[in-house]
Amino acid sequence: METDNTEEMFRIIFENALDGILLADFETKKFIISNPAICRMLGYSSEEITQLGVMDIHPEADIPYVIEQFEKGVRTENSLAADIPVKRKDGTIFYADIKISPVEIAGKTYALGISRDVTERRKNEQALRKNKEFIENLIEAMNDGFSVLDAKGVRIMANSAFYRMTDFSEEELINAGPPYPFWPPEYMDDIKAAFDKMKRREASDFELTFMRKNGERFPVIISTSCVKNEQGEITNYLVIFRDITRRKKAEELLRQQENKYHILSQEFQALLDTIPDGIVHLSPDLRIIWANKTLMKQVGPDEEAHLTGKHCYEAFWNYKMLCDQCSAVRSVASSSYESGNIVTPDGKILELRAVPIIGKSGSVESIIEVIRDITEHRKLEEQLRQALKMEAVGQLAGGIAHDFNNILTAIIGYGQVTLMRMEKDDPHRLNIDHILEAADRAAHLTNDLLLFSRKHISDRKHADLNKIIEKMEKFLKRVIGEDIECKTILHGQPIHIQADVHQLEQVLMNLATNARDAMPQGGTFTVTTAQVDIHEDFISAHGYGRPGTYAVITISDTGKGMDHETSQRIFDPFFTTKDAGKGTGLGLAVVYGIIKQHDGYINVYSEPGTGTTFRIYLPVIAAGEYEHEKAPDAEQPSGGTETILLAEDDDTLRYLAKIVLEQVGYQVIAAVDGADAVKQYIENKDRVQILLLDLVMPKMSGKEAYDEIRKITPDIKTVFVSGYAPDMIRQKMLLDIGMSIMFKPVAPMELLKKVRNVLDGIRG
Ligand code: ADP
Ligand code: MG
Repeated sequence: METDNTEEMFRIIFENALDGILLADFETKKFIISNPAICRMLGYSSEEITQLGVMDIHPEADIPYVIEQFEKGVRTENSLAADIPVKRKDGTIFYADIKISPVEIAGKTYALGISRDVTERRKNEQALRKNKEFIENLIEAMNDGFSVLDAKGVRIMANSAFYRMTDFSEEELINAGPPYPFWPPEYMDDIKAAFDKMKRREASDFELTFMRKNGERFPVIISTSCVKNEQGEITNYLVIFRDITRRKKAEELLRQQENKYHILSQEFQALLDTIPDGIVHLSPDLRIIWANKTLMKQVGPDEEAHLTGKHCYEAFWNYKMLCDQCSAVRSVASSSYESGNIVTPDGKILELRAVPIIGKSGSVESIIEVIRDITEHRKLEEQLRQALKMEAVGQLAGGIAHDFNNILTAIIGYGQVTLMRMEKDDPHRLNIDHILEAADRAAHLTNDLLLFSRKHISDRKHADLNKIIEKMEKFLKRVIGEDIECKTILHGQPIHIQADVHQLEQVLMNLATNARDAMPQGGTFTVTTAQVDIHEDFISAHGYGRPGTYAVITISDTGKGMDHETSQRIFDPFFTTKDAGKGTGLGLAVVYGIIKQHDGYINVYSEPGTGTTFRIYLPVIAAGEYEHEKAPDAEQPSGGTETILLAEDDDTLRYLAKIVLEQVGYQVIAAVDGADAVKQYIENKDRVQILLLDLVMPKMSGKEAYDEIRKITPDIKTVFVSGYAPDMIRQKMLLDIGMSIMFKPVAPMELLKKVRNVLDGIRG
């Protein structure tokens, strides 16, 4: 009973077992018994199975392994071969874990195989593995950095994006932190706080600043989450890092864009771009929201992209100290219109006007500031003031000079006539010499006055600047004295200018005299010539100038120099720092006048103690303009026998000229005014070979008389003598048509030379 029962029980278990059961002959490996479960798995009937052996139900490739397991199972009494591929009747494959054990039945050993179909499990496992791979790939492929920390916050792994982001290598980070090397020291506290918050699960998202290996800081957004075990304890933290450098920039741009759009429409911006003043739209904390093109240009054309968002003082002159004076700052404070000027460190004078834009809440929402560069304007004003001053002094001086000239002409004339008549060994000769010398100085002074007041017409001819300086060198050395080294450095090529050589010599003399006075202890005096092109940038820097090619004469000394205040005034007539009797204050005023007459510019750079440099710019003339050179002046004035009609209203001067001319053999017919001259000419027209006419005379001017006489004799030779201002325009006209003009005071020798030249048909 018991046996029957047991057998019955085994049979029931055998028939109903879910695992497949096979009994195989150990030697032949043929199956002897199979249960229904294995028949289902294999797709064979139990009869069919008894025809098969171990070799028949596995793919050929796996047979050696299966046999090995089979034998091992029998020998060791226990073997579990996992995941063995099994071939069904229809050829399909399933996987099974097979446990093989030896069984003794009636003294014979059999192999008992119990098989469990694990295809399903395998599928799951595979799916899981695929999933894992997928996730790993995903993590690797992420643009964001990803890292897993353990419960203590120690990094377990990180993806390559993370290493790319920080530039650290895996090895460098593997045993590091926290704190990690990508935590910038200055943000350590922030990051630690975030870390603690993450651990306490108070927050999971953070915006922090990290550091790349090269020290560069960058903004990151961090998202964290945690992994817990079954007990609810945190085992890991997952951290995603996103480098938001670009996003920040984009956001900023977007913000600007919105702001711009919000406040200034495109049309309005375009309008403001056309305005020659700089216009800037500022936030109340003085950041640039928008700036018009004019301002961009002032700052530098490449700056456009970088201006927005910057503080205006950084962007424009990088000088916060000026903010106190800035109208924008005051406008923020006062909520009202403000204006004022500021002087920038580089010397620009800016006129600022700021208008606050008041928001609904009544507070200042933004500021519009208009910036006008008035530097040039100021300089022009300054120049105008200087010119007016010169004009006033000039008028005064010119008025005196007129009478003074006549007096001097008389003194010099009579002096020279007296000298001519004196015996060579006359003891009074010396006195007359002194008188003449003094008169000569006086004549120069008058000349100076007339020069800077522009009442004197200069006689400009083509000249090579280098030659002028070369010729002057000897004289300059004499003026400068032996204690001072005198150097001239000349431009390699001739520099062609249109100049009154005597006047330029005067300029150099005056500058050399001043240099000498500035170097009582000795030093170096240098004159150099060069040729430069003046461009817009020169003009805007100096506030004057016209574009073109210029000759530059640089005159520098290593003397005591002067302070800014002095250098501002040195061109003023009568400005001097020298002791009474030593300086007249006219030297540089004359220089200024002459240079202006030459359409040139002069400026001065000086520092107390280091010396002074004057720079003179004179327009260069083009090659075609100086082709006809004039013949050099005739040597010695000689007399003649021709008849001269002399018209001069000043009795003394008329008489003097008559004496001078008659002394060398000329016949002189004297007339007291223009009308008299015409009358006398008609009476003597066959005799008169040359006219000597004062320009300004009562009744009829010299020019009018000339015109009358020309009706009779069109090609009559004529020399005009001119006093001062009122004749100026006529002088110019006469010069233009190539007439000869002499300026008072006329020295007798000069007069003789001129008359002879004109008679002989030599110009000049
Ligand atoms: P003056 O020489 O009669 O004083 P100027 O017009 O020639 O008059 O010069 C005016 C002033 O300019 C001088 O008194 C002097 O103070 C200053 N000055 C001119 N040239 C120089 C120089 N090379 N170095 C220093 N100061 C100078
Ligand atoms: Mg001087």
